[in-house]
Amino acid sequence: MAIQRPRGTQDILPSTVGYWQALEKKMRQLAATYGFQEIRTPIFEDTRLFLRGIGETTDVVQKEMYTFPTGDDKDKTFTLRPENTASAVRAYLENKIYGQETLTKWFYIGSMFRHDKPQAGRYREFHQFGAEVLGSQSAVTDAEMITMIVQFFQSLGLADLNVEVNSVGCPHCRPAYREKLITFFEPKKEELCEDCQNRLYKNPLRILDCKNETCKKLSIGAPEIHENLCEDCHDHFETVKKYLTIAKVPFVINPRLVRGLDYYTKTAFEVQYTPLGAQSAIAGGGRYDGLVEQLGGPHTPAIGFAMGMERVLLALEKQDLLPKPEEEKKAYIVALGEAARQKAFAMVTALRSMNCQVAMDVENKSMKSQLKHANKIHAKYVIIVGDDELQRGEAVLRFMDTSEQETIALADVIDKISSLVKG
Ligand code: AMP
Repeated sequence: MAIQRPRGTQDILPSTVGYWQALEKKMRQLAATYGFQEIRTPIFEDTRLFLRGIGETTDVVQKEMYTFPTGDDKDKTFTLRPENTASAVRAYLENKIYGQETLTKWFYIGSMFRHDKPQAGRYREFHQFGAEVLGSQSAVTDAEMITMIVQFFQSLGLADLNVEVNSVGCPHCRPAYREKLITFFEPKKEELCEDCQNRLYKNPLRILDCKNETCKKLSIGAPEIHENLCEDCHDHFETVKKYLTIAKVPFVINPRLVRGLDYYTKTAFEVQYTPLGAQSAIAGGGRYDGLVEQLGGPHTPAIGFAMGMERVLLALEKQDLLPKPEEEKKAYIVALGEAARQKAFAMVTALRSMNCQVAMDVENKSMKSQLKHANKIHAKYVIIVGDDELQRGEAVLRFMDTSEQETIALADVIDKISSLVKG
């Protein structure tokens, strides 16, 4: 049997790559508008980065990492990046960016890898657009990040999105809240799902967003995080809400939103598009004030988000909003006979050196099939040169939209086509 692509991966063929390119272009524009610069980190990293960065109790680390031998060092392994925040922070530290600037704003676009159960909207290789701000503790930054995502979706025309925000506290107030949750869930331990039984002492907050129906029921009446925030976290959250209101961002507060990765502090947020069903989260993020220190750096408050590009495209498709790829104007030179073909090749080469999209036939096809090809590639202008025209020093210029034709001097073809194509 022919070899197939690995489960949970996709081929992005030329017929759909235009959507990706259009989306990426918009993402880059958005990032520039908000003052973010692009960063590209390796696709694989030392596994310890994710163990330390994402948290050993998370699903991502426990079940979903692609880990493999380094080939050099028996005591070490590499892992395909399951997300990009830990790598961005590593790059921030390794390149001592903290010593060069007080505020760092980075964005990335790229593949992430998780050994998850593939289904609609969930893949093993998927693409994220994400952004990180390192060096700001202001709650206004949190509101700015959420606003940035919302403006992006608005610019795509996407409707029916829900923005959920929460505060998950900080190392001052979370331990006491954790204890309250453990006390609350301990008597129900046997009824919790297997994952939540494991989470009970390690990360009881995660029980609150377990999708299992029994766990959902068991968590009714659990202590609420908002009643257990310290003054700093409380004030921070109030400011986030105030600035979201100033930015006219519609949001709801979801006290059960804790997110899958361990590093979050204070603000956590998610954007949901419910028609996507079980995989309705299209973007999510939060503050991670402790992560830089946890990875060996100086105390650096930070916040980030990531958006699943496949899910954005699925949402766009559902609302019939897939971005139309921009088509450049193209020309085609129909050459009939060897002498004409040589002349055409010289003209095509000259036009291409001027960045004009121009094609010609090299298979000695008939006029009819060359015109058919010109049509297929959506050429707007066609130059026809046969041996007779060549002798007269002329060529026929045909406008494909209207089928109008005119005779022009062969010597003018390059100027004429380049001004039409670029005009
Ligand atoms: P996370 O890094 O888990 O916070 O995810 C951020 C965003 O990435 C989510 O809101 C999804 O849109 C997207 N995402 C996460 N995991 C997957 C996956 N396995 N397949 C497709 N998209 C994903």
